[in-house]
Amino acid sequence: MPATKIDFPVENLTNRPPSVEEEIRRRIAAERDRLARSMGLGNSASHFRRPVERPFTAEERHKVTILFGGLTWKHEALIRAVFQGCGYKCEILPVPNVAAFQLGKEYGNNGQCNPTYFTVGNLVQYLQFLESEGVPRQHLIDNYVFFTAGSCGPCRFGMYESEYRLALHNAGFDGFRVLLFQQNDGIQAASGEPGLKFTVDFGMGMFNALNLGDIVSDMIFRIRPYEVEKGKTEKIFHEAVDDLCTTLRERKPFEDHEDLPKWLAQKIAANKGKGWEKVVNSLGKVYDHLYGRAYKEALHAARDRFNSIEVDHLRVKPIVKIIGEFWAQTTEGDGNFNMFAFLEREGAQVLVEPIGTWVMYMMYQAKERAWEKRKLEAPYKRPGWYEPHKHLLNDLNARKKRWMFSVGETIYDRQYTRVVKGLGSLSHELVSQKEMADLAHPFYHQFARGGEGHLEVGKNIYYTVNRLCHMVLALKPFGCMPSTQSDGAQSAVANHFKEMIFLPIETSGEGEINAHSRVQMALGEAKVKARMEFEQILESTGKKLEDLKSYVADRPELRRPLYPIPHRKGVTGVAANFALHVSDLMDGKTRLRRVPGFTQALAHA
Ligand code: SF4
Repeated sequence: MPATKIDFPVENLTNRPPSVEEEIRRRIAAERDRLARSMGLGNSASHFRRPVERPFTAEERHKVTILFGGLTWKHEALIRAVFQGCGYKCEILPVPNVAAFQLGKEYGNNGQCNPTYFTVGNLVQYLQFLESEGVPRQHLIDNYVFFTAGSCGPCRFGMYESEYRLALHNAGFDGFRVLLFQQNDGIQAASGEPGLKFTVDFGMGMFNALNLGDIVSDMIFRIRPYEVEKGKTEKIFHEAVDDLCTTLRERKPFEDHEDLPKWLAQKIAANKGKGWEKVVNSLGKVYDHLYGRAYKEALHAARDRFNSIEVDHLRVKPIVKIIGEFWAQTTEGDGNFNMFAFLEREGAQVLVEPIGTWVMYMMYQAKERAWEKRKLEAPYKRPGWYEPHKHLLNDLNARKKRWMFSVGETIYDRQYTRVVKGLGSLSHELVSQKEMADLAHPFYHQFARGGEGHLEVGKNIYYTVNRLCHMVLALKPFGCMPSTQSDGAQSAVANHFKEMIFLPIETSGEGEINAHSRVQMALGEAKVKARMEFEQILESTGKKLEDLKSYVADRPELRRPLYPIPHRKGVTGVAANFALHVSDLMDGKTRLRRVPGFTQALAHA
């Protein structure tokens, strides 16, 4: 390396020679500068600025296609329907596979967590696929945008946006637009680009799509393991989701001048310009989305379709509750080793996690944090004892925030429960966040942030102590920082609750066979547990399995997936609970329950 020429500053020559320390620092700075310039990095001390995204404008709306993905096929189909209903062109990215993971590694940064590789690589893979189909690269850059969630951390989720940009740059798609839905700021702060306008219809449509996606997804996993005709559940659910999508896409939006009684519409029109007509119109839209006839009818039509599936609830199945990192526990592909399909093939019933739990978690956390910080954020700092009005105002200010979050939680929870009921009451309602935080608290503090935070621990305990599953499987992505934290806590939890069968699995783009074999071992234990439970229950009824079966065979209601099987305290399995109920029916201790949407026509179908 050629020797670096040292230019002493004039004042040093005139005043005093530099000390050795100063000289070392100066030489290091000069060398760092030279290296940075040779790498084309310019001034190494310059601050990072988020690249300014080319806006997605309203004029482009008719020609630009919005890409999104990363959830289940049910959520994605319903969300796309809402986009389309609001006039957007929209496409769903394929489920990320191992090839996408490898592309993510090739074009992205090293040292990311597993979901980053999969999702980033998936976008690049899809753009490359479109290019291979003959779509010119510049056309892709100009006429497609990617819509995703963002956050400020503290885990790597905060880096997703820049990861997308880096990988797109490295793959030659510089200038491709990534629009963000900010996790912490909610829907109002999303993207801010006028091309993507968050109207009441769009927001409420997305709200319904999310709830429907969650509940339909939960139901499919509760029904499929017990279906009599193989493949029927899949077929029926695809048809039902198609119908729900049609409703979300083609429903006529509420407009006050068209849908209110004539006298009221005229009154509103006469007072135009006073501002409140917009409020009336918005409230009408909200009501119509949640309680409108079109929505209710769509729910009941889907419910009746589900009832056409014949099931055998006397099949003994271990119930496996899935917990873990958000994406790993949601995706239905290579990103979690196709774990749900694998578990079902191995004879288990899978309990998946709704995205609604995450939404409730965010609200609960915001509420609790605001309460903890109430003294810091009080309008009057340290009021004296002689200033009771200031104490009162501080208190009111804190309670107001708490109350607002509580209202949000109540509305979300209530609407979720309404959809559960509308679709036949098979799904579990959202679990109380307070209960989960209280259960997790001795092991994981609710304010320890990152990933799922205390939720993982809370869910593990909740589903175990309430006997809602035989085994808990935690899906933790390779390289996930918060998962490393909760893994430590989970080992203490598993030691404390001796009856718990808990297995954490690290998901990655490699090692599927190894992961499946570990799951198989734990599942073996869960199967024994479920079988023993069923045999004990059967023995307690004093009846033979054949007697129960022939009683069920004569009653079509009992072969419907939406038959409400009572859950007995301390009994986990569906077959065990069903056997107890059928035995009571045979003994005349109880009566057949009403199946939502069940008709005699269905009985003979
Ligand atoms: S929770 Fe874990 S896997 Fe998910 S984005 Fe954060 S670091 Fe990555």
